[in-house]
Amino acid sequence: MAEYNSNGKSHEFKAPEIKFTKLFINGVFVDSLSGKTFETIDPRNGEVIARVSEGGKEDVDLAVKAARQAFDHGKWPRMSGYGRGRIMMKFADLIEQHKEELAALDSIDAGKLFTAGVHNDIPHSLNILRYYAGAADKIHGETLKLSGEYQGYTLKEPIGVVGHIIPWNFPTTLFFLKVSPALAAGCTMIVKPAEQTPLSALFFAHLAKEAGIPDGVLNVVNGFGNTAGAAISSHMDVDAVSFTGSTEVGRLIMEAAAKSNLKSVSLELGGKSPLIIFDDADVDMAVALASLAIFYNKGEICVAGSRVFVQEGIYDEFVKKAAESAKKWVVGDPLDPQVQQGPQVDKQQFEKVLSYIAHGTREGATLLTGGKPCCDKGYYIEPTIFTDVKEDMLIAEDEIFGPVMCLMKFKTIEEAIEKANATRYGLAAGIVTKDLNVANRVSRSVRAGSIWINCYFAFDPDAPFGGYKLSGFGRDSGLNGLDKYLQVKSVVTPLYNSPW
Ligand code: NAD
Repeated sequence: MAEYNSNGKSHEFKAPEIKFTKLFINGVFVDSLSGKTFETIDPRNGEVIARVSEGGKEDVDLAVKAARQAFDHGKWPRMSGYGRGRIMMKFADLIEQHKEELAALDSIDAGKLFTAGVHNDIPHSLNILRYYAGAADKIHGETLKLSGEYQGYTLKEPIGVVGHIIPWNFPTTLFFLKVSPALAAGCTMIVKPAEQTPLSALFFAHLAKEAGIPDGVLNVVNGFGNTAGAAISSHMDVDAVSFTGSTEVGRLIMEAAAKSNLKSVSLELGGKSPLIIFDDADVDMAVALASLAIFYNKGEICVAGSRVFVQEGIYDEFVKKAAESAKKWVVGDPLDPQVQQGPQVDKQQFEKVLSYIAHGTREGATLLTGGKPCCDKGYYIEPTIFTDVKEDMLIAEDEIFGPVMCLMKFKTIEEAIEKANATRYGLAAGIVTKDLNVANRVSRSVRAGSIWINCYFAFDPDAPFGGYKLSGFGRDSGLNGLDKYLQVKSVVTPLYNSPW
């Protein structure tokens, strides 16, 4: 194991050994049929971590065949929900035993904070997996009192073979947000992780097998979007695709589904979420929340609070304190427990964020703080704040997906609601106020799937999560998160003697 230093200090967390790099199909690790591999890069320094098997259409075909066989003839969909739940609980226990190694894998592959992995991503993923393990034996239909001489009931059945296509910003949480309800429902599946972060999913596949999830139920095919991803979304034998990623690719997935077998589609897409801070807020608390909402995970969060609206009475004080807070925000090696912000996931994202920052200055916003790359190597960017942002500027409209806060002032509650809704996205929103009437009114008026009042990123397995408008449709999490993996069948029978 290599040891990494940060800012000249040595620390206890180490880059993990890379154990799994092949595709996981039908319960075994295999090379891709083409023999091709691709590099996965450490964003802390731009160096190659490992070469990973590159799945293509033919590998997806094999994985779908295995999943189809496991669905049509295997025991997973036929086993009791209780039985599936017990195996899922064991899967969760195994992940817990490896949590430091898994968190470190995402740190070197995605630039995510090791401490966040151990204290947030992995515990939250375990909560999700255990929540759905507990739901697996509580999936049932309804009894129907039909008109006339008939009665009926509904059956909820697993939808079949599912394709999960996920992005790189939360490789662990998003894996479990997709896989857990699908497993509980009795589906079989193919996961296509993002090409930037192929490693942790392979470790999960290994642990799934150890937990007793039968071969063919959970397959992992790494590869690129326009090859492996497209092969899943256009496959004739995949019954549903659950996608998290950009709005642009979401459109392609829907198109591919429409042109192939009309598979069911759910899309969790981008966002440009507003955080609205009213005059009665505690300014220090509001600054801490706003900083977390945009700088956590280096702004690579679909629900990042990237548009911060502050009421005029506290605006000047907020701006001053927000700048002070951003300057103190510690950027560096994500394995270092003192660090608050790691590197952007790759060179492409790093350059994209910097180009938005340059554009913001050009279009007339004031760069209050940050704006530059930092640390000697790797893809680190200073926490950045713009003031004097107008709603029609590109930095206020586009999802930057980086540590860039856009600050705007408002006078009235009506103006705040109008500005918050002036976006093509609708994923989340935050409200900071002590006034319950204001909080209630704004939460009902903002068109977004998650509203956080006096908190942010308050995720829970029981709270459905998903978007309005171009942020997509369908819900992950909660019992709603099970629905997309289930079919509802109506069974009808005569109440008395059959007339036939
Ligand atoms: P992306 O859309 O480029 O890629 C996401 C996944 O789709 C990757 O696995 C990629 O390989 C695959 N893909 C790419 N092209 C494809 C194609 N033609 N067919 C099938 N699959 C294809 O997104 P990204 O850049 O990896 O992630 C960032 C985006 O994800 C942001 O817009 C962010 O807001 C969004 N996101 C949304 C949520 C949410 O829950 N709403 C969560 C995290 C990230």
